[in-house]
Amino acid sequence: MTTASRFRNAPLLACALLGTLDAAHAAPTVSRLTPPSELFASGNAAPVIARFLPGQRFDLQATLRPDEAGKSITEAHFAIDGKPVKATVALKSCSSGCLPAVPTNASIATVRAVSAMAQGVHTVSVSATQSDGQTVTAQGNFEVIPLLAGGQKVKNIIIMLGDGMGAAQRTGARIVAGGYAQGKVVAPLAMDSFPVTGMVKTASLNSVVTDSSPGMTSYVSGNKNNNNEEGVFPDDTVDPFDNPRVEYLSEYLHRTQGKALGLVTTADVFDATPAGNAVHTSNRGAGTGIVDQYLDDRGLTGLTVLMGGGRKWFVPSTTPGSARGDKSDYQFSATDAHTAEIVKRWGAAAGQLDKERDLLADFQAAGFQYASDKSTLDALDLNKTERLLGLFAHSNMNVALDKIDGRRSKARGITGRVVDDYGFPDQPMLDEMTAKALKVLERQKKGFVLMVEGASIDKQAHNMDTERWLLDTIEFDRAIKLTQEFARTHGDTLVIVTADHECSGAALIGGSRVTDARLQELVREGGGTSLRDKVVGIYEQAGFPKYKIAADGYPETTDIDYRLLVAYGANSDRYEDFRSNPLPLQDSQQPFVKKEPLSVYPSNPLARDADGKYLVTGQVPGDSAVHTATDIPLSAYGPGAWSFTGVQDNTDVFFKLAQAANGVVLPEGLAGAVKQAQRKR
Ligand SMILES: [Zn+2]
Repeated sequence: MTTASRFRNAPLLACALLGTLDAAHAAPTVSRLTPPSELFASGNAAPVIARFLPGQRFDLQATLRPDEAGKSITEAHFAIDGKPVKATVALKSCSSGCLPAVPTNASIATVRAVSAMAQGVHTVSVSATQSDGQTVTAQGNFEVIPLLAGGQKVKNIIIMLGDGMGAAQRTGARIVAGGYAQGKVVAPLAMDSFPVTGMVKTASLNSVVTDSSPGMTSYVSGNKNNNNEEGVFPDDTVDPFDNPRVEYLSEYLHRTQGKALGLVTTADVFDATPAGNAVHTSNRGAGTGIVDQYLDDRGLTGLTVLMGGGRKWFVPSTTPGSARGDKSDYQFSATDAHTAEIVKRWGAAAGQLDKERDLLADFQAAGFQYASDKSTLDALDLNKTERLLGLFAHSNMNVALDKIDGRRSKARGITGRVVDDYGFPDQPMLDEMTAKALKVLERQKKGFVLMVEGASIDKQAHNMDTERWLLDTIEFDRAIKLTQEFARTHGDTLVIVTADHECSGAALIGGSRVTDARLQELVREGGGTSLRDKVVGIYEQAGFPKYKIAADGYPETTDIDYRLLVAYGANSDRYEDFRSNPLPLQDSQQPFVKKEPLSVYPSNPLARDADGKYLVTGQVPGDSAVHTATDIPLSAYGPGAWSFTGVQDNTDVFFKLAQAANGVVLPEGLAGAVKQAQRKR
């Protein structure tokens, strides 16, 4: 008898305690009940963890453990508010395919794609019987958030997601791109001109510090996921594609309103943020299955535009540089109800282990126009383009600093720059991709959901490569400006600008006290901490760093005299020389990273900037700065923007977006004030 395992189920603790006194009282136990709830985990009815829209679909699941080896679970039933759920319960045996901690005679019971309509808190219960006839019942809860009637229906929703973009990243971009004069900003960022701003609490289901997967999915599913998981709740199986699902905003609005989905990113398109709008998996790294799902489940999501990097997932495994493989793919069994019900109830594709698939050709066969670089993107007749796929790099695209350097160098007849090393000298900027996406999506009669990600604000903050994330934030703001203009001319469009989490604990500590020429001398002298003491200007010594902005919208150089200085509160060990890094750090996602010329790029923050001998000891292990739990800003523009004020949970954002799509209603207090004002007139 495994007494210990029975203690996992807190609501049954009393029973389990009795059980230790009286073996005859033994019974099966429920060690997990999904959707996640505190009622199940701790016995507390609040806070309610899982929340859904009326009719929003999600899976019910329970892990059921017999009390002794040799027994098995024979039956399981779910009920919502005491009423039996009328759908097939798939009972999967853990004789194979479950996590090592789960006994092999356990079973996992699942009902796919259920929903509830009535607003308020509901109880969900599971009852199971084991082979000797003994039974167990466990209870959890979830809440249905009502959609209020009335008001203008927002047709288009644009989510501008600056990955890792905390307050410091926003301020830094403003100082560099906008400049300050006697304390006033000369040219504000587009995102600074949004009328409403709030703060967002970013925790995931299993940590105060989220990664990008649950960071994104909280905004577009209304629910917390575990780190590394997207569009699913955690489970006890090893298959990363069979987890209990929750319906995305894209899926809900495509199913109920016929809206299309657009995804634009500077990352590899398989990355967590874009995938966290359309793909259901507990492994954000399962790239082959993730990109297959984009195409195969487009009938669920309405996917119409997909742009970014990541060509390595779209070409057959025999093509050099391909990353397709069976290990990162999935295939649901038609004979196993556990996964077959995903196909039946959700209408999802069954998947296939098809590493030789030519996904580029399949996208094109499905009506997507394909652009491989900026020139082919510009050459497309977008008035005749119904669907658009753009893949501009093997994996993550180059960052703004390197793309701009490539363009300026090319204009001067210089090659051999970073974009040339990567083999993609003609990549579009994020605002250029966004303009094309809007052109295709604006013809969608029922509207669209567009997510645009400035991905390398995060990636370069991890690398503590200050100038690279600063310029990526400027690039991101240029894309924001376009969406704001679109919303201005299309009054039925809501734009939100936010991040999934802060990255690196970035802090704007001041400005350099020396010219760049003097800084180079001091670095050559290798003074260590005395380099810091001679360079770092704090308070009024910082003054107002002045960057000259070129016609292309980016600084002429980032190595100015008396430059802006950034420090990191969540850093790994690194050297700092306060100057721009000529080369980015190696990107392990690039298929040819171990070959020249990419293999000569610095491999980690200790492999660069060592000349000045100024070592900054890290607070975190490893060789990368980490995400922090700090709240992040959210700015909103357009009808429904007001609802984003205040300090809100990341999952609140989903319900506000869905409400806007259903009708922009004023909050009670405000509605009352408006009525009063109207009466006075
Ligand atoms: Zn990150």
